[in-house]
Amino acid sequence: MESQFAAQFGHAPTVQTTVPGRVNLLGEWTDFSGGLVLPMAVPLHVRLALAPNGRDHDRVASAQFDGVVTRPVGKAASGHWSDYVAGALAHARAQGWADPQGYDVALDSTVPHGSGLSSSAAVIVGMLRMLAPEGTPAPDTAVAARAVENEYIGVPCGIMDQMAVAIAAPGDVLALDTGTLAFEAVPLPPAWRVSIVHSGVSRKLADGRYKERRDEILAAAEQLGVADLCRADLAAVETLPAPLRARARHVVSEDIRTRAALAHLKTGDIAAFGAAMRDGQRSISTDFAITTPEVDAQVALIERHGALAARQTGGGFGGCIVVLDHAGDEPGWWEPLHSAFPAARRIV
Ligand code: ADP
Ligand code: MG
Repeated sequence: MESQFAAQFGHAPTVQTTVPGRVNLLGEWTDFSGGLVLPMAVPLHVRLALAPNGRDHDRVASAQFDGVVTRPVGKAASGHWSDYVAGALAHARAQGWADPQGYDVALDSTVPHGSGLSSSAAVIVGMLRMLAPEGTPAPDTAVAARAVENEYIGVPCGIMDQMAVAIAAPGDVLALDTGTLAFEAVPLPPAWRVSIVHSGVSRKLADGRYKERRDEILAAAEQLGVADLCRADLAAVETLPAPLRARARHVVSEDIRTRAALAHLKTGDIAAFGAAMRDGQRSISTDFAITTPEVDAQVALIERHGALAARQTGGGFGGCIVVLDHAGDEPGWWEPLHSAFPAARRIV
C-alpha cells in the first residue's frame, strides 16, 4: 500500500488502515427497523492510505478503478466511484476531523464491489477511522459512516454494514441489536464453515427497488403505528393491504427468526441455526421478493448437494449467496453449481 501510494502521489502516506468486508448470515432488511442482525467479517479487505496534499483538491487512486481522480474540496456526489471517499472526507471536514485543504488517498481491495459484501461501508469506515481523533470508539465511526452513505451518497441503508466492518472479528458472528447498537461476539463453532459464492447475477438497477422496499417498510410501520417495524406483531401485519402485508411479514418474521437463531448459535444447535437461514431465504424470496429466479435455483442446488443452508445475502436482486456447511472437505456443491451456472464464482 505504501509503495502504491508513493508511486501514485510522490510522497508517503501519513496514515493507513485495513477494513474487512462483511457477510450477513441472518437478519435481512431489518437493520433500520430495530432488528437483530448476525453479520460476520469476511477474510477479504479494503486497504486504504492517505496524506494531506496541501492543495485545494483531493486526489483519489484505486487499484480497482482507472485513473487518479481529482476532486475540488467540497464537491457534491456525482455518481462517480470516488464519491465514497469524497463523502467521508466531507463528513470528516464538517466534524473538524480533517483539514479544509486537500488529501491524497489510495485504495486497494480484495472485497468485490457491488456484490453485497459491503465494500462501500469498508471504504467509508476506513476513511473515517484514519481521520477521526484517536480514541474515537468504533461504533461512533460506524454511525458517522452510515450518515455518509445515507446523506452524501443517498443510499438509504441501515447501520448493520458499517457496524459489522468496524467491529466484527474474524470467525465470530456479530450479534448486533440495530435498535440499541448493543452487540456481542459469538464464535461460530469450528466444525462449521461459511462460504460465499457470487451468483453471477449482477445487482445493476437494484437501486430503485431498494428504495421501493424501504418505502414499503416505512409505510407498513406507519399504518401499524409503530416506530420500528420489528416491534409490530404478526397478527397485526396480516391486516395490512398487499403488498405491504407480505413485506412486513418478512421483516417481523425475520426478526423473530433471527433472535431464535442467535439462541441456537449460543447453545451450539447449528442444525436449528441452518433451518432458520433456510426459512430466511424463503421469506426474502416469497414475502420480500428481493431474490431472482436464478439465485433461488442456485440456493436450491447448493442445498441439494449437501450444504446445511444457503441464502442470498445483502440488499438483494442478485449478488452473493452465503453457504453454511461442515468445515473440512471441499464442498460437494461447488462443482455441480459451477457446471449448472458457469457465471457463479467462489469468493470465499
Ligand atoms: P457493495 O455491496 O460492495 O457495498 P455498493 O454499490 O454499495 O456495493 O458500493 C460499491 C462502491 O464502493 C463502488 O462503486 C465504489 O464507489 C466504492 N468502492 C468499493 N470498493 C472500492 C475500491 N476498491 N476502490 C474505490 N472505491 C471502491
Ligand atoms: Mg454497499
